[in-house]
Amino acid sequence: MENIILKAVEAHKLKRDEIVSILADDNINEALFRAADKVRNEFVGDEIHLRGLIEFSNICKRNCFYCGLRCENKDIERYRILEDEIVSYAKNAVEMGYRTIVLQSGEDPYFTAEKLAKTVAEIKKCGAAITLSIGEMDEKDYRLLKEAGADRFLLRIETTDPVLYEKFHPKMSLDNRIKCLKTIKKLGYETGTGVLVGLPNQTLESLADDILFFKELNADMIGIGPLIPHPNTPLKDATQGDFTLALKVMAITRLLMPDINIPATTAMETVNPNGRIIALQSGANVVMPNVTISDYRKKYEIYPNKICINEDESKCRNCIESKIISIGRKISTNFGFRKQI
Ligand code: SAH
Ligand code: SF4
Repeated sequence: MENIILKAVEAHKLKRDEIVSILADDNINEALFRAADKVRNEFVGDEIHLRGLIEFSNICKRNCFYCGLRCENKDIERYRILEDEIVSYAKNAVEMGYRTIVLQSGEDPYFTAEKLAKTVAEIKKCGAAITLSIGEMDEKDYRLLKEAGADRFLLRIETTDPVLYEKFHPKMSLDNRIKCLKTIKKLGYETGTGVLVGLPNQTLESLADDILFFKELNADMIGIGPLIPHPNTPLKDATQGDFTLALKVMAITRLLMPDINIPATTAMETVNPNGRIIALQSGANVVMPNVTISDYRKKYEIYPNKICINEDESKCRNCIESKIISIGRKISTNFGFRKQI
């Protein structure tokens, strides 16, 4: 088994059955995490990129089975941060030292590509890189936003298993999700995707396929998080995704895609109090602290018990900065684009 890990460290390639065997064997976890940490250090260095996250609307027309923002959840107070306020949070974040602003939301029909393009152009004037995480759109809309100055786009595939995908995403299709990702890539965005670990009936084989999909797409960023059941969703009684398994999927991704950006996700920290630091020591090199006010964070309840919902934005940055320094890593002062090798 150690040989398979060694092979991945050297060649950055694994076969499906090799990935499955690593996922299935918990005796090699420490060796896997150490290997991913080493590859991370070698290819992207010790710097950690902080991305300032603005969750600007929790209104969503979709109905994903796992998500608290789904349109059928009536037990949630909806909000929308309007354009000027988004720009003011972005400016504030840039003043705090953030070089990237991530704009994330549900699929809110109010925010047409035209409206968002203006906001993107306004934020660009502050000199920040911009990442969008706003769901599925037509090619012309993705193009408009790219031309307005957006640099990156995050759209998780969630699962590449067609049966699971159709089951948990009513009126959506895996084919269209893949098409969106290919369009995003073609338009020149740095492209991020990722999956949920712990969907009911998800197998290790299916997770191996997910990792191979990341590699085939040549994604520039991969976000992995455990499923956290939300009480007002059809998956309320599901078992919480396993932290260690999510960490393993992330670490194998680092071995196979050594130069990409991998966030230590908020969901990791929600299921393990030290989750982000552990992730940063197992292959991750990015953290996305929230830069909006506490009132909005509470309402952006994709899943319950989200961390830092009562902190203010400068405290959040200070808290994660001191943790990062305590493990001997540095905060990057550059934009943190994928380094091409
Ligand atoms: N609407 C956009 C962006 C917001 S959702 C989109 O869907 O792309 C951002 C991510 O939250 C999703 O990609 C999903 O992977 C994650 N998420 C949603 N519900 C979750 C849950 N219950 N547990 C863990 N992650 C969840
Ligand atoms: Fe909407 Fe995204 Fe949640 Fe799906 S995962 S319901 S698209 S916010």
